[in-house]
Amino acid sequence: MKAALALFIAVVTGLPTANAAPAQPPDAPRTETHITSEVLQSDIDWDALAIQWQRDAAKAWPRLWDGALSPLVVILTDQSNNARLITKEETHAISVRDLIEHPLPLPGDGLSYGHWDANPAVVIDPTVPRPDIDSLFDLVVHEAFHMHVQFNPNYRWPAVMKPRLEVSFKYPMQVDPRLYRRMLHSSLLDAYVDVGNRPEHLAAAAWWQNVWATNFPEELARTNSRDVLEGTAMYAGILGEAMSKIDNPDSLQERRAYFANSLKPLAGCRQTGDEHYDIGGVAGLLLDDMRVDWMKRAEAGETPVEIVLDGIASSSGEQAPEHIRGTIAACVEKLASEAAPLVNKSLANMRDPLSPILELPYGLGGAGNHFKVVTDTYRADGIAYSFFGIRDGVFATRAGTVAATQTALFSGADGFLFSLGPADFDVVGRQLTLHGASLSGSLIVDTVHDSDGRVRYRAAGTHQAR
Ligand SMILES: [Zn+2]
Repeated sequence: MKAALALFIAVVTGLPTANAAPAQPPDAPRTETHITSEVLQSDIDWDALAIQWQRDAAKAWPRLWDGALSPLVVILTDQSNNARLITKEETHAISVRDLIEHPLPLPGDGLSYGHWDANPAVVIDPTVPRPDIDSLFDLVVHEAFHMHVQFNPNYRWPAVMKPRLEVSFKYPMQVDPRLYRRMLHSSLLDAYVDVGNRPEHLAAAAWWQNVWATNFPEELARTNSRDVLEGTAMYAGILGEAMSKIDNPDSLQERRAYFANSLKPLAGCRQTGDEHYDIGGVAGLLLDDMRVDWMKRAEAGETPVEIVLDGIASSSGEQAPEHIRGTIAACVEKLASEAAPLVNKSLANMRDPLSPILELPYGLGGAGNHFKVVTDTYRADGIAYSFFGIRDGVFATRAGTVAATQTALFSGADGFLFSLGPADFDVVGRQLTLHGASLSGSLIVDTVHDSDGRVRYRAAGTHQAR
């Protein structure tokens, strides 16, 4: 599973907050590197596909996370002519009318989620091209795990309550934390597949975990909820996929042999958020292999790597090979060069208290809202907000619409924020007109002042009194 994590953050429904968990899973599908024969535009043998998925579900559902996905219903449909219902017991054709009559949203370009006769359900259209997806089965397990296990209304994991945009990395990006996490991952992978030398590999993993946690405690505090959520979802997805492929899905040896071939050390140049997936995924497999009873601890908020290293004494003086440091440094450089043109000007404006802020509500209230996030989520010294780079976006509010391109979007307490340069706007009365290189549009605003005197233009009529 190689990925550049695409963040399509709950754009229309607003961002998750501590009080209102998102109606969508914490992430969009990961982008992967190749197409498998399973992903076809046409020529799908629907009966054969459904039978295969039913067999896979029968092997995987009862064995994943103490059977938490056992009642899962998968609907495969092209949304016009074909629809198959799949459970771990059976599969049969359903009509598209059946589908419409059930309270299940149909998938647009991805998956959708809901319930089918009170059972948790996932709907997936296998005809939608997903050029970057390795395995639809892995994808379905991963996302169902988010929606129906982590967001289980009867027991919502504490980690899902952490606001997504607080999960951020320091900007400018640093090489050392990425290197330490890369080495942690490879040590865990070695510990998993090289059973004979497992104690040494675990001791090395403890070293890398400690050096990361000691030197970057703020990063650990900001990101460990992602290690829990994406790590366990990755674990469930890849294990579900593996169990569908191997003869004896209960055999830890068969699983290990499968993953010894399919899991690789982190290659380097991906978005930093991808580490959460791979580290948690391999840590979960390792915990099973060590026969540790770990799932309740992860549900309660411990990261898989914390559980696997609990009680493990660190080795000392581990060194990363120079070529790996070089690869990571080149990766960081590349990510920095991609982010800088999007965010640096906005950051300079945000650091200047004379530069106003434009605030738009999270619940935007207009149709056609979208934005494309193309960086990790970051924090920077001297700025109170997390932010990320967006390639383009439309933000329609009842007060007017803003079009954005190649800029940073900040996350405030009450809404999205843009920092404005002096040449980016005019304001006449309550009418704000944007005409900068990256922001255009106009809207009616209320002018307020932050505690430091900074002017804040707030989209009118959209701010609820607290
Ligand atoms: Zn995920």
